[in-house]
Amino acid sequence: MTLDGNAVRSVDRAASLLLALGDCHGDAGVTELARRLGLHKSTASRLLATLEKRGLVEQDEESGKYRLGLIVIRLAERAERTLDLRSIAMPELDRYALVTLSDLVRDVTVAYDEWRFHAVYRLLYEYCGADLSSFYLDVLKDRLYADAPDSLGRRSAQTVLATMLGAMVRMVAPILTFTSEEIWQVMPEALRGDIVSVQLAGWPEVTIDEAVAAPLRDAYAVVRAVREDVTKALEDARTAGLVGKSQEAAVAIGASDEAVAVLAARPALADLFIVAQVSLRGGAEAVAVEIARAEGGKCPRCWNIRTDIGSVPAHPDVCGRCAAVLGR
Ligand SMILES: [Zn+2]
Repeated sequence: MTLDGNAVRSVDRAASLLLALGDCHGDAGVTELARRLGLHKSTASRLLATLEKRGLVEQDEESGKYRLGLIVIRLAERAERTLDLRSIAMPELDRYALVTLSDLVRDVTVAYDEWRFHAVYRLLYEYCGADLSSFYLDVLKDRLYADAPDSLGRRSAQTVLATMLGAMVRMVAPILTFTSEEIWQVMPEALRGDIVSVQLAGWPEVTIDEAVAAPLRDAYAVVRAVREDVTKALEDARTAGLVGKSQEAAVAIGASDEAVAVLAARPALADLFIVAQVSLRGGAEAVAVEIARAEGGKCPRCWNIRTDIGSVPAHPDVCGRCAAVLGR
């Protein structure tokens, strides 16, 4: 059996992360595993028994020496996966989300390789809070709830979420053994394939060409910095009773010419800020945000404030986007 570079690395990681046995034999292997992973010896013993039961580890009957099961090598071959964003029709925000995921996989992998489990936890925790909950998933809701089921926008979002799930469940598997297994067992079969356990699923490889990733990282650093100011201004406007939900707001942003150029180049800027309208003004030294009530009516289907409600006679109550979805 020949292995390429990725598969060799995956086997190597599986060996170091899951086993941590070194050259130890028998009971000494359990002691070494417990020491390296900071586990109680009985826990390490159970972990090892599970690995053996699943065929990840084999013990030589004569010498008692542990070695990787053949199944690990077979699975490592499957683990290789790269994404060429240039070949995929995908909204820009989704491309950026995959860049943040690839950065996370890279950083988490390095942390595991250096045995810094606390850093693994912190990286995953911050990713879930700052990158997903406060930003990507927040913006995505409108597309997932209100776009047509087979639209490019919704399918693209689902593709990214599936990629995130596949990568994250694999990344937490070494430290959240049971939880990750429970996640794996309820994942759609299309995502699991015929792999019966997350422990057999290999290591995620989400690699994105740096020529694609770098400009997105730079642009969205500006977007997210300005978005923080917009969010703060929206909170103040809500407290003052000017607007209820952010979707009711029209936002006027003053910023440097450079920042305005970046913001103006983003498709669907209002969607990124979850507001009805955005206007931009350059030449400002610092970011300044003004909030007003947006003009238009509230679409009862997507809850956005739109000026094109009733523009499609067949669906007079809803906005143009929702009418198009309902008319499909
Ligand atoms: Zn609508």
